[in-house]
Amino acid sequence: MAPGGMKPQPVEDASGYRGQADRLLTPVNEAELVTFLVANREPVTVVGALSGVTGGAVPTTGVAISLAKFDRCEIGRGMARVGAGLLLADLQVAAKASKQFYAPDPTYNGASMGGTFANNASGSRSFRFGSTRRHVLALRAVFMDGTVREFRRGEAIDFDVPRVTVPATTKHQAGYPLEPGMDWIDVLIGSEGTLAILTEATVRLLPAPAELLSGVLFFPSEAAALAAVDAWRTLPQLRMLEYFDAESLNLLREVIPESPRCAAALLIEQEGDDTGYLDSAPIDEASWFGTTDADRERFRKFRHALPERVNDTVRRNGYLKMGTDYAVPPGRNAEMIARYREMLDPTGIRYVIYGHIGDAHVHVNMLPATAEQARQSQRFLHDFAHEAVLRGGTVGAEHGLGKRKRDLLSLLYSGPEIEAMKAVKRRLDPRWLLGQGNLFPCEPASCSPSC
Ligand SMILES: Cc1cc2nc3c(=O)[nH]c(=O)nc-3n(C[C@H](O)[C@H](O)[C@H](O)COP(=O)(O)OP(=O)(O)OC[C@H]3O[C@@H](n4cnc5c(N)ncnc54)[C@H](O)[C@@H]3O)c2cc1C
Repeated sequence: MAPGGMKPQPVEDASGYRGQADRLLTPVNEAELVTFLVANREPVTVVGALSGVTGGAVPTTGVAISLAKFDRCEIGRGMARVGAGLLLADLQVAAKASKQFYAPDPTYNGASMGGTFANNASGSRSFRFGSTRRHVLALRAVFMDGTVREFRRGEAIDFDVPRVTVPATTKHQAGYPLEPGMDWIDVLIGSEGTLAILTEATVRLLPAPAELLSGVLFFPSEAAALAAVDAWRTLPQLRMLEYFDAESLNLLREVIPESPRCAAALLIEQEGDDTGYLDSAPIDEASWFGTTDADRERFRKFRHALPERVNDTVRRNGYLKMGTDYAVPPGRNAEMIARYREMLDPTGIRYVIYGHIGDAHVHVNMLPATAEQARQSQRFLHDFAHEAVLRGGTVGAEHGLGKRKRDLLSLLYSGPEIEAMKAVKRRLDPRWLLGQGNLFPCEPASCSPSC
């Protein structure tokens, strides 16, 4: 191990959730990791780039393991072999140099590949390409007893599981998506650091399109923007459809003064030059368009600045991030947004609505200014999850549930379904040492007092 030190290591993720590990280990290769695990009796939490927002990478005790040194990046035709510690941004650059791209596009590209695998990350392009799980062709995992396995697509799990009912949303990341005979990759991707330590993977790369047009389109009303989303969602040329409400644009203006004053905006990206569909919507003439890398980077920064500003604002006020990650079936998108507003508007709590509207997956982030507003916001997180489930939605679309949101699992799944998930956990990590407190409270025998 690298001299990670024996002194307690404070750990904090992007949501402001804090914990502590007794020590941090940074193995330089798989053999060191295995040697440690075989002798280990302590809780273990895998720490990626800590950009998660549910406390998943934040230990309460035990050993934090960073795979930062597993940074392999080999680009081939149609695929890349990547280490868990490689940053998504580095894969993006390497793929681009080979005239290819990696389709999952979670907004924060400083995330580690391991973190994106563990959380089945998605983002702005998932309504077209799906989330991370779909793009992993092979996966290497180290289990808590030190067993190392490399799984290929189609390699079925060798134990029985029931089918759990998953919501009719276009994205979903909450609990294990169990079904009889499912493949290993599907159960490990999205397992939120609870089943195995993911060390390496082969991911699919797609050919870079010859032409890309990007734009930030400004709308005179929220209704007009939502109607455009419904009309455009299935257009084959569109590969990004992101939403900003009026208050999101106001918040952005604090850091990007040219952010316009308007009722709503959509960030789009499309392949090819067929823009006829734009004529059908009342788009402001001042909307921004661009075709160069520099334009795309400017728009990416504009989009990225929003969650950063949200996270900074709420933490500066002294609170944890209070953001939803719920998706509903696309046909219920406008109704769900109207319900959020109906519940929030009378309270006076400042809030923004933005995000992956192509998947009917917007983030509602509340920015409480007082302790009472913070308490109310906390309650809304739960109430909104309930409202999403009532509409056939999911309680976690891309961030997972980690520790902060694990209570939502029981809003979505029955007791026997959650038991079936726990049985998988028990089978692969019988001492319940890995990712303690993520998804489920840990089993009493292994539970640390703070779990
Ligand atoms: C500004 C901002 C914007 C974001 N936008 C998006 C978005 O659009 N889409 C999206 O999906 N997410 C988004 N996120 C959330 C976050 O970036 C993703 O969840 C990301 O996948 C986390 O990667 P990480 O390396 O930071 O993981 P961490 O936060 O360090 O860890 C996340 C979880 O993965 C586990 N883990 C990490 N590495 C491994 C491994 N090698 N093996 C097993 N388990 C592991 C951890 O134990 C933890 O449970 C955003 C975050 C921020 C701060």
